[in-house]
Amino acid sequence: MIESYALRSGSSGNCIYVGEKGRGLIIDAGITGKAFLASLAANGLSPDRIEGIVITHEHIDHVSGLGVLLRRHRIPLYISEDTWLGTAPKIGEVDQSLIRLIEPGVPFEVGALSLTGISVPHDAADPMAFKIEGECGNVSVCTDIGYLDSKVLESLAGSRLLYLEANYDDFMLANGPYSRMLKKRIRGHYGHLSNEACGEALIEFVKRGTTEIVLSHLSQDNNLPQIAERTVNGFLDMIGAKEGTDYRLNVARRYDCSPMCRF
Ligand SMILES: [Zn+2]
Ligand SMILES: [Zn+2]
Repeated sequence: MIESYALRSGSSGNCIYVGEKGRGLIIDAGITGKAFLASLAANGLSPDRIEGIVITHEHIDHVSGLGVLLRRHRIPLYISEDTWLGTAPKIGEVDQSLIRLIEPGVPFEVGALSLTGISVPHDAADPMAFKIEGECGNVSVCTDIGYLDSKVLESLAGSRLLYLEANYDDFMLANGPYSRMLKKRIRGHYGHLSNEACGEALIEFVKRGTTEIVLSHLSQDNNLPQIAERTVNGFLDMIGAKEGTDYRLNVARRYDCSPMCRF
C-alpha cells in the first residue's frame, strides 16, 4: 500500500511524504525540525523510517529545514548538483557523505521506491518535478512550475496520486497587493501555476488515470482553498468527471498535515 501526505505546503514551507510498507521518503524539507517530528508522529511515523530527502529546487520554502534534518537525523539527501550549489550556502555545515547527486531523466532508487526527476520551468537553478513509483502504484509531485508543457505532462501522466500546484486565482492576483513586477514574475513562464492552468492540466491527468488529486502550494494572498477547488472541479466537469466518483480532491494545508492518502 502506498501512503502519502503533505506535512506542509505553500510559500511558508513544503514537505511531502511518500512511502510504502511503513518506510518512505520526503520530497523537500521546508519544515522545522520540531514540526517534522510532530507531523510524522501524527501519522505513526518516525525519522528512522525516512530513507531519503529529495529536493525539487533551492528556494527557501523547500530547503529551510534541510540543514537541521540532515544534522539531526542523518537521512541521505538526493539533489542535483546545481540545486546543491544553490542550497549549500543556506543550510549550514552538513556531512557531505549524505549527498547523492541526481539528474533529471535519470531514474534512481530510495529504499523500495523508484524515482525520476523531470525538469520543469521555474526560476531556480535546476528545478524538477518527481514521479515516484512503488509496488502498489505511483505518485507525482509537481509544484513551483511556470507552465505545464506536454513533456512534463507526458512524464507524469498515469500517476494515481498527483500533487499539482494551484498557486493563484487570476482575479485575486490581478486585484491583490503584489507589485506589478511580482505579479509578472508569478504569471510568467518561470513562475507559478494558476488555478485555471491547473484545472486545464488535470483534465489530461484524470483522463489518463489520476484519481487522487491534492492541490498544492496555494498562495496565501492570491488564492483560497474553496476557489481553487471550485475552479478545478469546473474544468473536470467539462469532461464529465465528478468529484467523489471519478476522482477525489483535497487541498494541501499550509501550516498543518494534510490527510493521509492510501491506495
Ligand atoms: Zn515554493
Ligand atoms: Zn520555487
